[in-house]
Amino acid sequence: MTHEELADLIFPNIKHDIKYYEEKYPERKLKEGAIVTRYAPSPTGFVHIGALLASFTEYSFAKQSDGVFYLRIEDTDTKRTVENGISNIIRDLKDFDITFTEGAANENAETGSYGPYIQSKRKEIYHTFIKELIKEGKAYPCFLSEEEVNEIRERQEKHKDRIGIYGKYAKYRDLTPDEAAAKIKNGEEYIIRFKSPGSFYKKVKCTDLIRGELEFPENDLDIPIMKQDGLPTYHFAHLVDDHLMHTTHVIRGDEWLSSLPIHIQLFSYCGFKAPKYAHISPLLKNDNGVVRKLSKRKDSECAVSYYHEMGIPNEAVKLYLATIMNTNFEEWYLQNKDKQISDFTFSFKKVSKSGALFDLEKLGNISKTYFSRLTKEEVYEQTKTYLEEFDKEFLKVFTKNPEYTKAILNIEREQKKPRKDIGKYSDVKKLIWYMFDEEFKPNYEDKDINTNLLQDYLENYYNEEDDKNTWFNKIAEFGSKNGYTSVKEYKENPDKYKGHVGDICEMLRFVITSLTMTPDLYEIMRLLGKERIMKRLDNFKNK
Ligand code: GLU
Repeated sequence: MTHEELADLIFPNIKHDIKYYEEKYPERKLKEGAIVTRYAPSPTGFVHIGALLASFTEYSFAKQSDGVFYLRIEDTDTKRTVENGISNIIRDLKDFDITFTEGAANENAETGSYGPYIQSKRKEIYHTFIKELIKEGKAYPCFLSEEEVNEIRERQEKHKDRIGIYGKYAKYRDLTPDEAAAKIKNGEEYIIRFKSPGSFYKKVKCTDLIRGELEFPENDLDIPIMKQDGLPTYHFAHLVDDHLMHTTHVIRGDEWLSSLPIHIQLFSYCGFKAPKYAHISPLLKNDNGVVRKLSKRKDSECAVSYYHEMGIPNEAVKLYLATIMNTNFEEWYLQNKDKQISDFTFSFKKVSKSGALFDLEKLGNISKTYFSRLTKEEVYEQTKTYLEEFDKEFLKVFTKNPEYTKAILNIEREQKKPRKDIGKYSDVKKLIWYMFDEEFKPNYEDKDINTNLLQDYLENYYNEEDDKNTWFNKIAEFGSKNGYTSVKEYKENPDKYKGHVGDICEMLRFVITSLTMTPDLYEIMRLLGKERIMKRLDNFKNK
């Protein structure tokens, strides 16, 4: 029996050959340098923050090069499939504006001419390729049972030998086609293994776009390419899919880095052009001084829903991911006040080689910068959406008089050095509650306030129509009549005065807001108006 006959015995119903598929999926017509890449999750329905970083990276590189970003579902590990897994992944990514040029669109539909994009629907294609390898003697049926493979591993561990099926452990690699066929006809179970041409004692060079040139021992493992259920392994499916879908760049987690020599070998042994590879380091967390990988199980910030619930804008999360992705992003962002992420050109060279610390405080700071660049309308609309879901009580207050609320939000906004105190939608209430009478139930702490002085000022000097200069000059004038001087003068001769203008402002601020720190007092007073301020002073006196 020939290898060809063995291949026919194993795959009797294959209609096409590799060439057929290569013609069916021709070279893409894209401009020079266009990156074709993919997001290739298992359909678990769950996008964690590391996966969001990976997909955002892939999306950005494809987009900035006018390339293609497609969604391929890797469901060959059937245990990991959950109901609506694909739709949920697509929905979560869409929230972050990560969308696909082609690929799976939900459980049952897809777009693009390089599909099917769901691996379990590509069985026939994989079998065609595997059949061809068997025909050429480059792959073979292996009859080792799972127990035998486990025993081999245990033995290898005991003898501190390399783990895997290679050399003398690859018991069935040299069966003749007749011997193999006899076992198959006898009903013995098998998987298909790749017959590695490599030697562990030779070195191969592989290039990673982030880490540069790496040297590995050549792969000599006869890795499984088809499992007993007839589905391919990741290694093999990735080879076939990225070949036929004309992926130019494989961007993936660095848990795959050690498989790189296998993948490079598979591509070259099959005579296909290998894509370029970029391996992204995992996100790390400083857990009370111990740096470890961010964990789906332990860390709530791992789920992307966390940010939604906390009220951190998706755009801010993306800005933070961009900061992690390229070491020069943050500086660029801080310097370019009116630019969007999409104006930035990402590069593989600026991806950090080691894992990045995922730091919620840092995210909070970036988010504050993001908020500081929004218009009052934007803050209003976005916060409203958040409150609609998470705080219906405050929503009523917030939306009662939109123009008033927007005016509050505009205090120290839309100016050269805008306020930077809002980092999440849930901060908004904490920062502006005192501007609403229905919310203003202050808990004044003990403080020495000269209420008569304030009453005098408000009745006889304060006019809500005054511009800021006039307002300030009046406080100064009123102050000087009452023993309060300028800050400078007060510092030089503290004994001669009761205090300085700042002290009057502080007292006013305290009575009006119950706080010692707020944004611009002039604006706060102007928006509240004299009547409401007087009322607050009265309440303060009677407390
Ligand atoms: N399904 C693989 C994973 O989730 C994809 C890796 C790749 O992008 O090639 O890790």
